[in-house]
Amino acid sequence: MQVCVYCASSNSIAAPYFALAEELGRAMAQRGWGLVYGGGSVGMMGVVARAVQAAGGRVVGVIPQFLLDREVGYLQADELIVTHTMRERKRLMDERADAFIALPGGFGTLEELLEILTLRQLGYHDKPIIIVNAGGFFDPLLAQFERGFAQGFTHPHHRRLYVAVETIAAALEQLAGSL
Ligand code: AMP
Repeated sequence: MQVCVYCASSNSIAAPYFALAEELGRAMAQRGWGLVYGGGSVGMMGVVARAVQAAGGRVVGVIPQFLLDREVGYLQADELIVTHTMRERKRLMDERADAFIALPGGFGTLEELLEILTLRQLGYHDKPIIIVNAGGFFDPLLAQFERGFAQGFTHPHHRRLYVAVETIAAALEQLAGSL
């Protein structure tokens, strides 16, 4: 199984978030699952990639040329795919992955999560999407989703498109159950 992880590129976040990324990377590799991600060496992205490799797992990074030029690419990835555009990059990440996990992050993470959710809603894929709501980080986003369901913007039936969990262990259990 190849798991695509969306998470923060920021280094200016609290230590427990890095620990969360490390825990996920290690746990994935222990299950024999590979990582597909944005190919960054920074923030939680770099931590999750290094943790996967440290535990014997394989890392596939998909990064646009301009980010590589800024020297934020993870050159130690087992496979580093360089794309021309952000859109091409996301398409490759989607194709390569069997499931998606969102950890806490900023705009980039939210954008990736919402796009993959929307694509599932539209029937472009039917792969599991797990939101790791560690420490309630995603509470406001999940509340926004609920507002959409309550006011008819999103069909309540689409609540099945994602699963929100609080821990890495629960995220992996969810994915293991969907195999
Ligand atoms: P953000 O949540 O805004 O920090 O953005 C993180 C997400 O956007 C990641 O999952 C990446 O796919 C992408 N991204 C943002 N910054 C970078 C970077 N420096 N290198 C690679 N990918 C990045």
